[in-house]
Amino acid sequence: MSLSFDPDTIPLPNGHFIGGELISTKGGIEMRRPSDGKAYADCPVAGVDMVDRAVESAKAALKSSNWGGVRPRERTKALQAWADLIEAEAATLARIEALCSTRPVGQLVAGDIAVTAEQIRFFAEFADKEGSELAPTDDASLGMIMSEPYGVVGAITPWNFPISMAGWKLGPALAAGNAVVLKPSEMTPFSTVYMAQLAVRAGLPAGLINLVLGDGPTTGTALTGHAEIAKISFTGSTRAGSAIMENVARTGVKPMTLELGGKSPQIVFADADLDKAAMAIAGSVTFNAGQACVASTRLIVERNVADRLTAAILEKMRTARPGPTWDDATQYSPIISERQRARIDDIVRAAIGAGGKCLTGGGLMDSPGYFYRPTLIADVDQDNPAIVEEIFGPVLTVQTFESEEEALVLSSHPTYGLASGLFTADLSRTIRFARKLEAGTVWVNRYSRSRDHILPTGGYKRSGIGKDLGREAYLANRRTKSVLISL
Ligand code: NAD
Repeated sequence: MSLSFDPDTIPLPNGHFIGGELISTKGGIEMRRPSDGKAYADCPVAGVDMVDRAVESAKAALKSSNWGGVRPRERTKALQAWADLIEAEAATLARIEALCSTRPVGQLVAGDIAVTAEQIRFFAEFADKEGSELAPTDDASLGMIMSEPYGVVGAITPWNFPISMAGWKLGPALAAGNAVVLKPSEMTPFSTVYMAQLAVRAGLPAGLINLVLGDGPTTGTALTGHAEIAKISFTGSTRAGSAIMENVARTGVKPMTLELGGKSPQIVFADADLDKAAMAIAGSVTFNAGQACVASTRLIVERNVADRLTAAILEKMRTARPGPTWDDATQYSPIISERQRARIDDIVRAAIGAGGKCLTGGGLMDSPGYFYRPTLIADVDQDNPAIVEEIFGPVLTVQTFESEEEALVLSSHPTYGLASGLFTADLSRTIRFARKLEAGTVWVNRYSRSRDHILPTGGYKRSGIGKDLGREAYLANRRTKSVLISL
């Protein structure tokens, strides 16, 4: 079935979503479609009052449904029903997402949406499997480490994979027995609103998921500083993560999971399967036009195979097929906004000005919308802007090395430590590097996530605190209480 659609015909669920109701307001932030630059909607901006209303709704839903106290299997079943409905409604969800975001509709149903449904089911299964523990104590006592939900969790998501990011936050928080107030990005909120509507249709208590739309400074600040939000789960830039820490410190104390920016290296040794490495690295830097936190952005290759590998990557980068996100043949995405595209171009120019040699790309595409050409820059020092900055676009740098020590020095980034890739046939070297690479993820002879959702994802350094996915993400949504009974 073709998923292609006319972007002017898609109804959008535009409004805050509180207590199971869509609340529309007038005005807001002007939104433009990345694929053609056309203005199509205004994103409402929730102020303190609307955020209060959402938190009250979450508290009321927890109380009336006893979501955190029901038999855990009931939570599992309810979340599984939601995942089933997300899959059944995948075409509609995909079109809403593709209209507003950079995700091509042809990649969404089998990709982002299928994976998100699977991840919600994965987290749902923890509800009746992870719980309290008895503590080893003497015969005269009984010690318990009692596990409990937090209550109301505040979540904030970025624009780059709106459906997936909403699933990463909502799945574990709800399975763990919490209610959520979530603020999606002001650039791509509507697919998250539709997901929340599907949750209510699937039978989850109204008010368990509440969405407040708006920007960071207004809505985000009101949410993270709210006294009755017990925990924050954030994905976005390191800059916004720091602002949130500051606001939380100013307004109270609460635990935070922060999934932040990255500048991930891919280290390729001469003994690696170079075709496989080229495919993985070019695929990652062109996927979503490099707008992924773990995008491959810094190729570090053994000098004697650098020309061969670079040529293979160049060839693959040039084959990415651009087009509007509503055409299901499109493979290569636009950049999210004109402003972000200008920022990418500024950094690329600065990188070339600082001595970098542009081997391909390095400019805007001559087409409607905000497309940027896949770009490869060689001859860059460690202080070149293309190495230092998270560009968040389709830009890969190339550096070469002659020894393992040199490769390790080049791979280390002063700010980020999100993901890293290693391509080699040497098992001992693999273990040495897995131990030494300063990153929350090390992919070996591949450069992408698998569907093994048990593997957590998160950053070292200023790439973040805590993990999404895996058992860790579920446990981060529960807190423990020590209970000691004298017998
Ligand atoms: P962003 O930080 O500009 O915005 C992310 C979200 O935070 C948005 O909803 C925004 O409105 C909100 N926000 C901004 N300032 C805020 C504030 N002061 N208080 C509260 N909320 C605030 O990021 P973006 O441009 O939407 O997304 C791209 C960034 O996200 C990149 O840095 C990327 O690496 C990162 N990211 C990280 C992961 C990960 O898993 N580590 C995944 C996806 C994206």
